[in-house]
Amino acid sequence: MRNDFAHLLEPLDLGFTTLRNRVLMGSMHTGLEEMPDGYARQAAFFAERARGETGLIITGGYGPNREGRLAPKSDYIAPDQDLEGHRQIVEAVHREGGKIALQLLHGGRYAHHGEIVSASAVPTRINPVVAREMTTDECYQTIEDFGTAAKLAREIGYDGVEIMGSEGYLLNQFTAQRVNQRKDEFGGTLENRLRLPVGAVRNAREKAGDDFIIVYRLSALDLVEGGNTLEDIITQAKAVEAAGATIINTGIGWHEARIPTIAHMVPRGAFTWAVKRIKPHVTIPLVYSNRVNNPQQADGIISEGVADMVSMARPLLADPDFMKKTREGRPEEINICIGCNQGCLDNAFTGKLTTCMVNPRACREVDLNYRPASTPKNFAVVGAGPGGLAFAATAAEQGHKVTLFEASDEIGGQFNLAKIIPGKEDYAETITYYGALLRKFNVDVKLNHTASAADLVDKGFDAVILATGITPRTPDIPGIDHPKVLSYLDVLAGGKPVGDKVAIIGAGGIGFDVAEYIMHPEGPGDPAHPDIARFNSEWGIDGDYAHAGGLSPEGMRMPCDKQVWLLQRKPHNKFGATLSKTRGWATFVEVMFRGVKMVGDVEYDMIDDAGLHIRAGGEPQTLDVDSIVVCAGQDSRRDLHDALVQAGMTVHLIGGADEARELDAVRAIEQASRLVATL
Ligand code: FAD
Ligand code: NAP
Ligand code: SF4
Repeated sequence: MRNDFAHLLEPLDLGFTTLRNRVLMGSMHTGLEEMPDGYARQAAFFAERARGETGLIITGGYGPNREGRLAPKSDYIAPDQDLEGHRQIVEAVHREGGKIALQLLHGGRYAHHGEIVSASAVPTRINPVVAREMTTDECYQTIEDFGTAAKLAREIGYDGVEIMGSEGYLLNQFTAQRVNQRKDEFGGTLENRLRLPVGAVRNAREKAGDDFIIVYRLSALDLVEGGNTLEDIITQAKAVEAAGATIINTGIGWHEARIPTIAHMVPRGAFTWAVKRIKPHVTIPLVYSNRVNNPQQADGIISEGVADMVSMARPLLADPDFMKKTREGRPEEINICIGCNQGCLDNAFTGKLTTCMVNPRACREVDLNYRPASTPKNFAVVGAGPGGLAFAATAAEQGHKVTLFEASDEIGGQFNLAKIIPGKEDYAETITYYGALLRKFNVDVKLNHTASAADLVDKGFDAVILATGITPRTPDIPGIDHPKVLSYLDVLAGGKPVGDKVAIIGAGGIGFDVAEYIMHPEGPGDPAHPDIARFNSEWGIDGDYAHAGGLSPEGMRMPCDKQVWLLQRKPHNKFGATLSKTRGWATFVEVMFRGVKMVGDVEYDMIDDAGLHIRAGGEPQTLDVDSIVVCAGQDSRRDLHDALVQAGMTVHLIGGADEARELDAVRAIEQASRLVATL
């Protein structure tokens, strides 16, 4: 019988070895690398992904020499280094029948230490330190270093290496004139600019031998001014193939690009059109990467001839068993990555350990584990938002009996509002996933049932988990009950229309989301049928790939028919401060480019028929608006708590019910999961 995902599941014969399917786990620096017991933790992390049947795993990036390391204390791969710890990783993955390649990443001018080097001393906005230009001898030595590192990787037991040539790191700094302004044989013509990356591949092949996987990560689309043309990239792809690469992986956009490439607003498969253009020019397997998050889509990328494999990184944080569930025909049980970046990249970029919003066990495989119930308990969960769902599904999976009460007619809580914000449609996947688990583990779900103390006391429950979330805050402003005033619930859940001129009170995550919602009158899209042409046009991407770097000469075009004011009491320079670190900037840019007027240092005086009367920086003004939408934060909703405690019940508060301040779904789900781990 043909599995629906036959293309994705088909083994890939590389001649000297075979990958068990078409999924490559993309490289992620998780922070485990720097932990004192980092090798043991990485071993557990990667082994879980190998057990989950990932075709080929790529480690986080390691420099091929000292200058190439990313941070002062980062390890690098060289003969003077102690590399023994890596054996733990390799052995753990091999025990699970997996294959793993070590990523060799020279940070170049993106590294953060005092010895950084690059093709030329060209500053970048994302690093205050300007790199020193490498001498010609250093270029030749770097080629040797890549080869030596590949040989060492082989000796450790890795199945291969991935040579990182994308995302704007050193090799990319050589390929593109943006940074390469050299006058020697490593600069000038394309042939010269490719000398270092291609030399690195050739040297790695020579030193590591023929029966060793060498993946080259090619920048398929630079998305920066002074980036490569499509022709340059095709020439590069052919050259690395000729130099001995086994597989070409792809990367999209330099880190300094001003275009989002993986955040939730990037449509699924947004860059297939670029990778597809490279495919006819190479004979070795080509990998598509960026915003692939489900097996249907991944299978389609292969069956439609875009690429031979797909790379997924964050989706394997979200669900290490992605490929096992795919093979077993259980796609609805895959915990889908929703592109939020909140548990993974936001943490990585603020020096914290990477994890995942929808899978708090990611990178905590050693210390966050659930035990099957030896004596099953009987739990009541009140509220089916992310917190309540995570508790109910995880506890039931361990064998506990769970009854889940939800006041509304659907599970999902506030994620039902998040999923209708244009760009956040994938948030629906988390609700779907939990729905599948509730069914599988026989959770008794009582919809349209506002639980009262009478439903819970003396009903045989061992404990009640209160996951009742929040209530929106109503600020004390004269005229707040004026007909112009709506709450965000009225707009998002109630579908109440807003006029052409709108003021939003409160510029937190929900204020920005409501602005997005208002500015997209067409409403949310269908993630399975993404409007990539629109994304390209809005962000200034040249979908015809006729211009260098893939940038369109027209630049960004984000039309908006509404006039919107986004207001806060905090000073102007604090706008967007509470948004996600690694995707909030893109939301901020969108809102700004659509012409939203962001006003800080606001005092709200009153609301009447003339509009919203404010003082901004002390200056009185009246915003002549048709609608005023209140997004002024939230307070905990835990009305049942005291009655249950007085009745002698064991009560656990999680998510918004526990604390509304700085609540997000990361905390709600993690709190639920940690509670299950203590049962
Ligand atoms: P909630 O999701 O609030 O769920 C509580 C549930 O309890 C509700 O379904 C409610 O009906 C039910 N309930 C209450 N009382 C009872 C009762 N007595 N009986 C039965 N049921 C009851 N967070 C992020 O991390 N990232 C985002 O990008 C993000 N975007 C958002 C966008 C929008 C528009 C909104 C509104 C929120 C967003 N959030 C986001 C916030 C996130 O959704 C919340 O942090 C999260 O939902 C909190 O989960 P929770 O389980 O604590 O409660
Ligand atoms: P929030 O982030 O706390 O923002 C509330 C906003 O209302 C602030 O701008 C605040 O700014 C203003 N405010 C607070 N009290 C007010 C009052 N009494 N009168 C007038 N204005 C007031 O909360 P939220 O936007 O409701 O979001 C709720 C939670 O959902 C957040 O904690 C957030 O993490 C999460 N969420 C996250 C995202 C995301 O993208 N990561 C998206 C949506 C929601 P001033 O005090 O300066 O006026
Ligand atoms: Fe995906 Fe969000 Fe998890 Fe990161 S935190 S892996 S983006 S779901």
